[in-house]
Amino acid sequence: MSRMKSSNLGYPRIGENREWKKALEAYWSGKLAEEVFLQQIEQIRLGHLQKQKEKGIDLIPVGDFTLYDHMLDMAVMFGLVPKRYDYEGGEVSLQTYFAMARGSQAAVACEMTKWFNTNYHYIVPELGDRKPVLTKNLPLLAYREAKEKLGINGKLVIVGPYTFVKLSKGFAAGEQADILQQLVPLYATILQELSSEGVEWVQIDEPILVTSLSKEEMNTVAAIYKELHEAAPQLKLMLQTYFDSVEHYAEVIDLPVQGIGLDFVHGLEQNLQNLGIYGFPKDKTLGVGLVDGRNIWRSHLSNIGKLITTIQREVEEARLWLQPSSSLLHVPVTTSQENRLDPLVKNALAFADEKLDEIRLLQKGLDSREASVIEAVQQGQRALQRLAESSARHLEDVQSAVAEVTLEHFKRKSPFDQRSEKQKAVWNLPVLPTTTIGSFPQTAEVRQARQKWRSGEWTTEQYDTYIQEQTKRWIEIQDEIGLDVYVHGEFERTDMVEFFGEKLGGFVFTQNGWAQSYGSRCVKPPVIFGDVQFKSPMTVKESVFAQSLTPNPLKGMITGPVTILNWSFVRDDVSREQVAQQIALALRKEVEALEAAGIRMIQVDEPALREGLPLKKSEWGSYLDWAVNAFRLTTSSVQDTTQIHTHMCYCEFHDFIDSISNLDADVISIETSRSHGELVASFHHHAYNKEIGLGVYDIHSPRVPSVDELVNMIERGLQVLSPNQFWINPDCGLKTRGEEETIASLKNMVEATQLVRKQL
Ligand code: GLN
Ligand code: ZN
Repeated sequence: MSRMKSSNLGYPRIGENREWKKALEAYWSGKLAEEVFLQQIEQIRLGHLQKQKEKGIDLIPVGDFTLYDHMLDMAVMFGLVPKRYDYEGGEVSLQTYFAMARGSQAAVACEMTKWFNTNYHYIVPELGDRKPVLTKNLPLLAYREAKEKLGINGKLVIVGPYTFVKLSKGFAAGEQADILQQLVPLYATILQELSSEGVEWVQIDEPILVTSLSKEEMNTVAAIYKELHEAAPQLKLMLQTYFDSVEHYAEVIDLPVQGIGLDFVHGLEQNLQNLGIYGFPKDKTLGVGLVDGRNIWRSHLSNIGKLITTIQREVEEARLWLQPSSSLLHVPVTTSQENRLDPLVKNALAFADEKLDEIRLLQKGLDSREASVIEAVQQGQRALQRLAESSARHLEDVQSAVAEVTLEHFKRKSPFDQRSEKQKAVWNLPVLPTTTIGSFPQTAEVRQARQKWRSGEWTTEQYDTYIQEQTKRWIEIQDEIGLDVYVHGEFERTDMVEFFGEKLGGFVFTQNGWAQSYGSRCVKPPVIFGDVQFKSPMTVKESVFAQSLTPNPLKGMITGPVTILNWSFVRDDVSREQVAQQIALALRKEVEALEAAGIRMIQVDEPALREGLPLKKSEWGSYLDWAVNAFRLTTSSVQDTTQIHTHMCYCEFHDFIDSISNLDADVISIETSRSHGELVASFHHHAYNKEIGLGVYDIHSPRVPSVDELVNMIERGLQVLSPNQFWINPDCGLKTRGEEETIASLKNMVEATQLVRKQL
């Protein structure tokens, strides 16, 4: 038996059948009493630990479980409750905890944002309002529970102080040192108490170490860890990084901790290279992240076996932990319930549980003589090989189309200035044209109709008729509101990625492949397993029908290639760039089909463009190059007079405008209501010359904005850019809104626009 240990960094909270989500939502809606809720949650939490124990994982993460989010847990543990909530110190109640997460009658929720480059969103701690104190030692309680109830001597998981502070807000840069000075002693107390309790290992997560940090920042990190080490010298700290290679390898491995965890999947090359150059300290344990914690495919165990051999040249077996590259929070729980998937795909999948099995196999050793090991390794290899050789991954048409792409494919026929003149002549729109972002309210009735059709209760004909009725009704409503450019309303779509995935070749959909997005919200991303292929037009019928009902221009509506890519689980045998290109070529055909059918304004949504940005700024350029190219490949074959629109929701644009400009879209609609001036100003600053749709009100709230406030919003935009550059629209699709408030808001928006026009 190998002397390498098996370890896990974190386990999905949602449960095999999303029982965690269901318990939370039942409690929130008042259907579950607090006591019963907490009992259910305890069962789920212990169940997850027990499962990992049964799998034989040596270092089981404890304390990674949460009632909502792990960053929120940290904030609450330190009593960092913003002033707007009712809180007088001491232990934070469940009510306050959930009020911070979700808002309450009295106070809005804390901000939520993406956890590094994942689709998980954490609650942003607000540090300015209070001095941190230790309200209770959560890791200690988690440790005792696992030990007493399950006999598990857990590895405690906490977010490290530097990552915690860097991801928080509510203080000025100059106050960071003070805050750390208050916070680090609290960490020290936590660690001391754990140490006295007999805890052996603590996994202290510092993923911030993979981002671009300065030398000075590294000095701060070094000072923090010196203090923590001195406070609890007996306790072993595994300083855990993930999602990329560490920036300052030499300094990081020198920190006074007993272990360093590195990601040898996403940061493979750089981490390995550093290991070769700087070696690894003889007195430390290396956590080797080698099974992808972010993707859903089985591992190529033989490749990983070679990697382990390479690493063993630097670090002896007894000091190696085999582990996933990150917490398994980002993948679904188990493939065992996927009984409708094509075995070709199913057998090649590994969700959280299967990934832990892989780690155990690696621990037992690929040269093991144990029959079950041999069998499992071979099975995995065969499944991957079958998929690799499958015709789905070797579509002649798709691959030759990709090979034949030339620079010309990325270019519109004429530059923007020339197109713009022609478009203005053809479209003859008023100044400040009004429009919407695509979807109109999807009422319960619309969703029921889709359900009836999916279950076979309705024929396709019945369903299509129903969708057409909705479209027609909303064309009439758009007439009544007085918008300039119409949309068909997207009533036929549940989700902007799924809709296209279902119609393109190369995608499959799991039954139970849910992953947590934020709080109790889970998403079930499509799986791109093969070459992506255009089969037949996907949106033409609906757009043409809608256009036939109105003389006004109507925008065709598709989801862009980068968003489809970033919101899916993607095959890992070819680069993301290549997959993006395949999707782009398929969508290009859709764009051409729309244009041929007479739809001459086409919106290609890319709300997830920014999400794919690498964690290291130095790598932004290459991502943006191919991402922007994928958009251009999708859109650039059209005539000059065909107007390409794009849409991004809230997005920080200041460091990003050149890429947006490079998309070469004729019109981009963006959020402006929440961040207002700043956003538009950054376009001004970059001398952005294309058209911009101002998202003048926030669609995330049912509130109807007044005419005055909308006038104000529009005028603020006009202060920095020419009126000829602007369109007026809501800041995103209206799918989640009610009909009444939507119509009222849009009427006000049109009225406000008319008022502003008069003053021009
Ligand atoms: N066209 C989409 C809609 O209106 C855009 C959604 C989005 O940006 N997330 O629903
Ligand atoms: Zn949007």
